[in-house]
Amino acid sequence: MKSGRVVVAGCAGFLGSHLVDALLGRDCEVIGLDDLSTGRIENLAHLESNEKFSFMRSDITDGVSVDGTVDLVMNLASPASPVDYLRLPLETLAVGSQGSLALLELARTKAAAYFYSSTSEVYGDPLVHPQSEGYWGNVNPIGPRSVYDESKRFGEALTFAYQRTHGLDVKVVRIFNTYGPRMRSDDGRVVSNFIVQALRGEPITIYGDGSQTRSFCFVDDEINGFLAMVDHGAHGPINIGNDSEFTVSELAELVVRLTGSESPIVYEPLPADDPKQRRPDLTLARTVLNWEPKVMLEEGLSRTIAYFQALNGDIR
Ligand code: UDP
Repeated sequence: MKSGRVVVAGCAGFLGSHLVDALLGRDCEVIGLDDLSTGRIENLAHLESNEKFSFMRSDITDGVSVDGTVDLVMNLASPASPVDYLRLPLETLAVGSQGSLALLELARTKAAAYFYSSTSEVYGDPLVHPQSEGYWGNVNPIGPRSVYDESKRFGEALTFAYQRTHGLDVKVVRIFNTYGPRMRSDDGRVVSNFIVQALRGEPITIYGDGSQTRSFCFVDDEINGFLAMVDHGAHGPINIGNDSEFTVSELAELVVRLTGSESPIVYEPLPADDPKQRRPDLTLARTVLNWEPKVMLEEGLSRTIAYFQALNGDIR
């Protein structure tokens, strides 16, 4: 879609706000919704006088009402960091179920396409590596992380039920660990934690022994992947991430080197059900969407470190 009227739920979040920028850059009109429970209005401050953007503070679990035509509904609304969704367990389940339902109904009544941001967490602690979209996952359905994992799995199920029942044009991506400017310093994710700790000279907290792996995608690549999905007729789900895999210890060493920090490394207990390994199989993204990540970890981290440094001690 090169232009049109787009509703973005979760528009004040880390990914949502970058997505809004990209859509406005394509000359779309954007109606942004956010309850600001984990997103920040500061992420949208630069758009205050942009006539193509309007913001509505609302919780999509209470229902959604948008005047006028809508071409595309993009659902990025959810706590997404483990620290956030463990703090907001019921809200996380509600936004994936009731919130998704409200946005799907909006898409249906407006005859709009529907984009759903799902997650690599649908694979749980995966027994298959790397993870391709055909893998059904290994999720503990009652563990602490289930509030997010099952919420997103339900969100996917609901999306495809709407497609089958109502013929809705749906597009589902599964996001793998993404990082970059506008991450909250207190959202608890490993990249922001390590950078903020390194810049403050505080101990760098590795959970477990640091041998668990993740594959980190820079935000600009992730957003370009979303747009490739929007432009394509594919319904997904399609993995969008970076398939270069690192241990958490390797990430800590890289952050220490790039910041020149003297922070010591300390080891803390591994959270329950923390996945041991994660790497996307990007075959579908490459072959169907003709998309792949371009920004490698060292460059992306340098850009993210520069963002946190520019906050000048006002790291929030
Ligand atoms: N982690 C860590 N130290 C931190 C934060 C996270 O070692 O300060 C680990 C966490 O246990 C997990 C990995 O880093 O193994 C990625 O965690 P994150 O919360 O960023 O995302 P997840 O992939 O678990 O959703």
